[in-house]
Amino acid sequence: MATIIDGKAIAAKIRGELAEEVKKLAAKGIQPGLAVVLVGEDPASKVYVRMKEKACQDVGIFSDEYKLHAETSEADLLALIGRLNNDPRIHGILVQLPLPGNINTEKVLETVSPTKDVDGFHPYNVGRLVIGKPLFRPCTPYGVMVMLKEAGIDLTGKEVVVVGRSNIVGKPVAFMCLQEHATVTLCHTRTRDLPARVGQADVLIAAAGKPEMIKGEWIKEGAVVIDVGVNRVGDKKLVGDVEFEAASKRASAITPVPGGVGPMTITMLLFNTVEAAKNRLKSEG
Ligand code: NAP
Repeated sequence: MATIIDGKAIAAKIRGELAEEVKKLAAKGIQPGLAVVLVGEDPASKVYVRMKEKACQDVGIFSDEYKLHAETSEADLLALIGRLNNDPRIHGILVQLPLPGNINTEKVLETVSPTKDVDGFHPYNVGRLVIGKPLFRPCTPYGVMVMLKEAGIDLTGKEVVVVGRSNIVGKPVAFMCLQEHATVTLCHTRTRDLPARVGQADVLIAAAGKPEMIKGEWIKEGAVVIDVGVNRVGDKKLVGDVEFEAASKRASAITPVPGGVGPMTITMLLFNTVEAAKNRLKSEG
């Protein structure tokens, strides 16, 4: 049976380290600050925003919430981001996605100062990741990399197969694995013979958003399986993109859903916010 890579435990360890870092910064008169911008009433977004604020409080990060009504104009949102870019209390800016349809998401993400872009979605930060000189890395894929490191998995020379090519998970995690000297295959809906691709993986990273679509029998004996997928089936149950029970019998290590990658995402947001505060301190000499 596979070893379970416990995202909750890894996240708790990193949050403990961050709380110590925040104390050190406090001794220098600095409190990392995160602005969280929420437009509209999307219930899932509201829950995420609340979780992010609570996580900030727990490690001592100052968080400031901006709740804007669903009819907010793009110009007003851009103006708010402009003010936050210049606000010295704020080191990181997070705009909760999705935004209402009348707002151009790309324009909004490009307005966030790259030095405060703790979500790592600004094209500047995407470009830096691609050239192997990252400033801020997107939180979910960054969390995946930290989990692999904490589990003692060296990617050098390994075959990594990523299922999913989104800008927030699949593509960035592929570049991060490349940076760690893996040979990376990026799969999507037009990939031919997905089971064969998956079967080649020393490390499989599933981020397709399709409940249990990756069958246990596709997994190579001894592979490491990181399941980013979070899919609600029925009323309450959450499952990943991988058939957990069957995959556990073949994999050497696997992340559960829930309790795997999930807890790492907010943790890396906190990490990036603390980094942003440290960067500012350095740049101010
Ligand atoms: P997304 O934007 O919907 O992208 C899904 C990707 O998977 C697409 O590239 C799609 O291919 C590919 N795909 C879908 N069905 C496939 C299939 N049958 N075979 C091969 N490829 C397939 O999703 P996302 O935002 O990246 O999220 C992926 C999953 O991760 C979701 O379950 C989401 O809830 C979860 N997630 C979790 C966290 C966390 O904190 N744990 C954070 C973010 C996302 P095409 O490009 O060809 O359409």
